[in-house]
Amino acid sequence: MYDFIIVGGGILGMSTAMQLQREYPHRRMLLVEKESGPARHQTGHNSGVIHAGVYYTPGSLKARFCLAGNQATREFCDAHGVRYDTCGKLLVATNGLEMQRMQALWERTAANGLEREWLPEGALKEREPNITGIGGILVPSSGIVDYAEVTRAMAAEFERLGGEIHYGCEVTALEERRQEVVVTTSRDTFSGRYLVSCSGLMADRVIRMLGLDPGFTICPFRGEYYRLPEQHNRIVTHLIYPIPDPSMPFLGVHLTRMIDGGVTVGPNAVLAMKREGYRRRDLSLGDMVQMFTDPAILKVLGRNLRPGLVEMKNSLYRKGYLDLVRKYCPSLTLDDLGGYPSGVRAQAVSRDGKLVDDFLFVNTPRTVNVGNAPSPAATSAIPIGAHIVGTVKAQVEG
Ligand SMILES: Cc1cc2nc3c(=O)[nH]c(=O)nc-3n(C[C@H](O)[C@H](O)[C@H](O)COP(=O)(O)OP(=O)(O)OC[C@H]3O[C@@H](n4cnc5c(N)ncnc54)[C@H](O)[C@@H]3O)c2cc1C
Repeated sequence: MYDFIIVGGGILGMSTAMQLQREYPHRRMLLVEKESGPARHQTGHNSGVIHAGVYYTPGSLKARFCLAGNQATREFCDAHGVRYDTCGKLLVATNGLEMQRMQALWERTAANGLEREWLPEGALKEREPNITGIGGILVPSSGIVDYAEVTRAMAAEFERLGGEIHYGCEVTALEERRQEVVVTTSRDTFSGRYLVSCSGLMADRVIRMLGLDPGFTICPFRGEYYRLPEQHNRIVTHLIYPIPDPSMPFLGVHLTRMIDGGVTVGPNAVLAMKREGYRRRDLSLGDMVQMFTDPAILKVLGRNLRPGLVEMKNSLYRKGYLDLVRKYCPSLTLDDLGGYPSGVRAQAVSRDGKLVDDFLFVNTPRTVNVGNAPSPAATSAIPIGAHIVGTVKAQVEG
C-alpha cells in the first residue's frame, strides 16, 4: 500500500510528487506515467517561456501562480543546474487599435504587480532593430527554459527523496473506497491512501474513471511552430509578442528565443483531431466522435467559427501564417519558415460551452485532480504543486 499515488509524469505531476515527498519524507509514494519517460506531452512540446503574468485576470489562480511561478522556476533552475535565460518580453503594437489595447494591458500588468517599461517607437527600434511597431511594453522578468529538462530534474529530486516512478504504466481504472484508492494500470494494480491526477490531455477521462462527472470536456488545440534558420538566431534579443485581441488572448504568433539558441515562430491554435496527435494527419476516430457529439464543444466551435477558420487557413497556407509575423518583423520570408514539432494544448470546455479560463481542480475526499491547466501552467508548476500539497494535507489531517 502506498500513501500517495500520482498519475502523470508531466511537469505538474512531477512538481506535485517532489513537493509531496518533501512534505512527507517518510511516506511511500508512487508516480505512474503511461509513456516511457517524463514530459512526453504538453510539457515537452511548448514554447518554453517562463511567463511573467501579463494577461491574466487580476486575482485569478493564473495571475497568482504565474507571478509566484516565475520566481520559483528560476530558483529551482538555480538550485538544480538547469539553464534558463531571463531575456525579457516585448509586447509590440503595430496600429492604433493595438495601441489602445496595449494601454489596457499596461494597466493589467500594474494590477498583476509586474515590473514593466513603456517604450515609444524610437526606444522600441533601439532595443529591437528588426522589429517594427509604434510602441511596446517591455516586461523584463519573462524568460526561457526547457521544461522537459526542468521536469527531469524534478523527477530526479523526487526519486532522491525516496519516491518511485513507474513509466510505461497506464492507469485504466480507478476506484475510491473509504480507506484507499485502487489504481488499476496496464501493468499492476496499486493501492494508495490518497491519489493526485495531473493527466493533461486525458484529465476528463481520468476523472471519469473515479465515477465523477468532471463538468467539462478536454478539447485539444494543436499549436504549430516554425523554426527560423540559424543565421536568424540573433534576429531578436527579447521574446516578441503581438498585442492580443482581448476576446482571444491565446491567439497571436510570437517570435520566441529558445534556450538551445534557436528562434521559433508560433504557435497558432487549430482544432486537433487526436488528443495526443502532433502531426496534421494524426486522427483518432474515438476522439473525433467524442468532440463532435459534445454539445458544449460544438457550441464553442460555432461561436468561434471565423477565427477558427482563419487559424485553419493559416495552418494550411504558410503565407497567411507568415503575414501574421511580418506585421512586426517584416524582413522574414517564406524560406525562413523551417519545420518544427507541434504541441497540443489541453483546453477544458465547460458544460455551458465556454473555454474554462482559470486553472481548475476537481477534488473528492481522497483525490485531487487537475482539470484545466493550460498555459502558463508550466511556469506555474511549482505553486500549483504547492497548492495541491496543501489540499492533500487538509484531506490527510481533516
Ligand atoms: C503549444 C503549447 C505552448 C505552450 N507554451 C507554454 C509556455 O511557453 N509557458 C508555459 O508556462 N506554459 C506553456 N504551455 C502550457 C504547458 O505546457 C502546460 O500547461 C503544462 O505542460 C501542463 O503540464 P501537465 O503536467 O498538466 O500536462 P502534460 O505535460 O500533458 O502531462 C500529463 C501526463 O499525464 C500522462 N497521462 C495521461 N493519462 C494517463 C494515464 N491514464 N495513465 C498514466 N499517465 C497518464 C501523459 O502521458 C502525460 O505525460 C504550452 C502548451 C502548449 C501545448
